[in-house]
Amino acid sequence: MNNAPRTVRLHPDDNVAVVLNDGGLPAGTALPGGPVLREKVPQAHKLALVDLAEGDAVLRYGVVIGRANRAIPAGSWVHERLLDMPAARPLEGLPISTVQPPLMPPLEGYSFQGYRNADGSVGTRNLLAITTTVQCVAGVLDVALARIRRELLPKYPNVDGVVGLEHSYGCGVAIDATDAYIPIRTLRHISLNPNFGGEVMVLSLGCEKLQPERLLPPGSFRLAPKAPAAPAPQGDAGLLGRPGEAPIVGHVRLQDEQHVGFASMVDDVLATAERHLQRLDQRRRETVPASELVVGVQCGGSDALSGITANPAVGACTDLLVRAGATVLFSEVTEVRDAIDQLTARAATPAIAQQMIDQMAWYDAYLARGGSDRSANTTPGNKAGGLSNIVEKAMGSIVKSGSAPIAGVLGPGEKASTKGLKGLLYAATPASDFICGTLQLAAGMNLHIFTTGRGTPYGLAECPVVKVATRTELATRWHDLMDVNAGRIADGEIGIDALGLEMFELLLDVASGRRTWAEHHGLANSLVLFNPAPVT
Ligand code: CA
Repeated sequence: MNNAPRTVRLHPDDNVAVVLNDGGLPAGTALPGGPVLREKVPQAHKLALVDLAEGDAVLRYGVVIGRANRAIPAGSWVHERLLDMPAARPLEGLPISTVQPPLMPPLEGYSFQGYRNADGSVGTRNLLAITTTVQCVAGVLDVALARIRRELLPKYPNVDGVVGLEHSYGCGVAIDATDAYIPIRTLRHISLNPNFGGEVMVLSLGCEKLQPERLLPPGSFRLAPKAPAAPAPQGDAGLLGRPGEAPIVGHVRLQDEQHVGFASMVDDVLATAERHLQRLDQRRRETVPASELVVGVQCGGSDALSGITANPAVGACTDLLVRAGATVLFSEVTEVRDAIDQLTARAATPAIAQQMIDQMAWYDAYLARGGSDRSANTTPGNKAGGLSNIVEKAMGSIVKSGSAPIAGVLGPGEKASTKGLKGLLYAATPASDFICGTLQLAAGMNLHIFTTGRGTPYGLAECPVVKVATRTELATRWHDLMDVNAGRIADGEIGIDALGLEMFELLLDVASGRRTWAEHHGLANSLVLFNPAPVT
């Protein structure tokens, strides 16, 4: 890699450029065809290409990311303290389905080795998941999980692992509150994620508000030790896509009289788990088309290179996935809010554009209820990484969605296949890495791609996570945590489309069983439910 100064200006209208060199550029550096730097500018940070007067618009991506709050001479470092953030774009008068998307011919002949499920979905892993109805059971479950891993899994080599779906919901909550449907349907849909093979097992306490019959389809508790009380249907009749395909649910209830002492509870969990493991172990991978992938794209610990290297490459990969018939979920409301006009313009139909607007409006109101707004999104690390505010961050975030028309919208916790949706989908979620990942699992995600500039060891036990570094310094230092180095784009070694193709091929390998670094090390974050409803 050479040490010549390298900067990038992303749009002809931009009056700032971003420094690409590892370690930044020192004061006095003469930029080819540009100003001489008046001060050191760190990597991924912006410099003024022209003299800016107080009040002048500062443009990146051809979008006003802020206004100069004092005079900024050409060659200066343009950091967040020099910019005032513009107001959020109103949700009225937006362009609706105005963009004629580029012609995207189908991509045929790509496949992976996956696990076909009875409901028509395909898993990329063969996992036993144990659903919980309430946090009270988590301690018992943890003891049981350790024993399952030690005593049972070695007997069932075709099973990739066992996952406890633990969470803080289920009791002590206002379960009939207006927004309680969000955490409940999230848990329900995660239990039915394609990576769990339809082998739903539930561990409950007994007295909690979230009874198993409220969580899962009525009539599915065929292995329950006792017939459950009258089910309380929750609507959502199309839960499993097709009728008659309800999973067989193994159910252990800790307060049942048959449990005498702690050991009998753990033994019961193990015996029930073993029945599921026996069936899961019979499954084998088979060749399935790439269209069976449901890929969640997300970013976390972003820097200003996220929008130049990793996210555009993910966008190129997204376009390939969509052309191959796969489903791609992009999310993170506060990171698309400032680009809503670009997204409504790309909506396949006016109805889809309206659903996007409805999700933004719901989230604006949710934030306002807490006396906050979208500007609460950015972190100290984002700012140290050169992202001045949420407007700049959002412009770099939405490029993960590529260029395809937006074919559908999911509310928080909704599942794509239940709504009959495929292709590029907007799944409305908070931007929090764990909450977004949790909601994408509920949406049916069987593969996850995650970009980071600052660096995060993020992983999920439920689904492989392919992590992409935005810069070479991070990819080198975290050589056994990052799966892809998109910093090669900034280094001039590879183009965006070529890296997108490389990622697409890596995703097919990982879907077929190749382990990610996070899987290699066993790194997994907790599920975190989005619960906008009150607790009691
Ligand atoms: Ca995130």
